[in-house]
Amino acid sequence: MDYSDVQPEARILIIDDSSTSIRLVSHFVRDMGTVHFATSGEMGLKMALDLQPDLILLDMEMPGMDGLDTCRRLKKQRVLENVPVIFITAHSGVDYEVAGFAAGAVDFIGKPLTEMIVRARVRTHLTLKRQGDLLREQAMRDGLTGIHNRRAFDERFLLECRRHRRNPESLGLALIDIDNFKAYNDLYGHQAGDACLREVAQVIDANVRRPGEFAARYGGEEFAVILPHCAGDEVQRFGAFLVSQIRVLALPHEASAAGVVTISVGVIAGKPVAEDAEQQFLSSADAALYRAKAAGRNCVRLAGRE
Ligand code: GH3
Ligand code: MG
Ligand code: MG
Ligand code: MG
Repeated sequence: MDYSDVQPEARILIIDDSSTSIRLVSHFVRDMGTVHFATSGEMGLKMALDLQPDLILLDMEMPGMDGLDTCRRLKKQRVLENVPVIFITAHSGVDYEVAGFAAGAVDFIGKPLTEMIVRARVRTHLTLKRQGDLLREQAMRDGLTGIHNRRAFDERFLLECRRHRRNPESLGLALIDIDNFKAYNDLYGHQAGDACLREVAQVIDANVRRPGEFAARYGGEEFAVILPHCAGDEVQRFGAFLVSQIRVLALPHEASAAGVVTISVGVIAGKPVAEDAEQQFLSSADAALYRAKAAGRNCVRLAGRE
């Protein structure tokens, strides 16, 4: 038996109306991940949304919602679009395969099932899924600091705006900019500047711990933090706390008034009900940040409050 490429942390979901079939397939893939199962398309769809599996083995012939229909519905869910679906079917013939691929499946396994074939196909698609996950994750990270990048921020911010518009609840946003950073680079060199960016990013990231909170490198020496369900006074407190946390880091900065590296923060909170709320939030936070700079830096300002 071949135990290479076994991913014990992988989640495998089997959707099949026959318990005999589930038992057999579970047995074949028992050491390739955690195996979960559902006995109908409806139940499978619900479980998939909860579980976020790495692979779905789907029976084509089921009463009620059949395999093809289940597959189409799975693939319509944005959170499941990258989850490979392999059909298991007693049918053979080009038409079935074409219909399966059109519904969004990545592969077919014909009955009667052979352990070697099931394992080989599952292994291949789990490996591809893992590689895809790694690439997608990397594409959302900033290379220098390791925290989320601008692309990830844009995606998440849009999502949170929509979510808070539906409810509607107050959403908080903080824009953070390192003070006199050009002078820091000029004085200590670009490499020291990079190290400083990493340290500041780490402090920000370490203070973004509540569920739903999200920190990203927004641009050169600018960072952004999304604070869900947050009102103005809370966002302002958060901003003030970050300002103090960076100050007590005490990274020497001889060309700065404080003698150490400091940040300025612009914050905003509100219900993002307007059509262009994303843009409004960003430009208001930016205006608040500008006021923090004008007030002498090393401080926080809340949008709309002079
Ligand atoms: P202010 O207090 O008004 O924000 O002044 P500042 O000097 O920080 O602002 P400015 O926009 O003039 O300069 C930003 C500097 O950030 C210039 C740029 O070289 C530096 N920077 C941007 N990205 C990086 C990076 O990845 N590494 C390093 N070392 N420096 C960077
Ligand atoms: Mg069946
Ligand atoms: Mg800047
Ligand atoms: Mg700056």
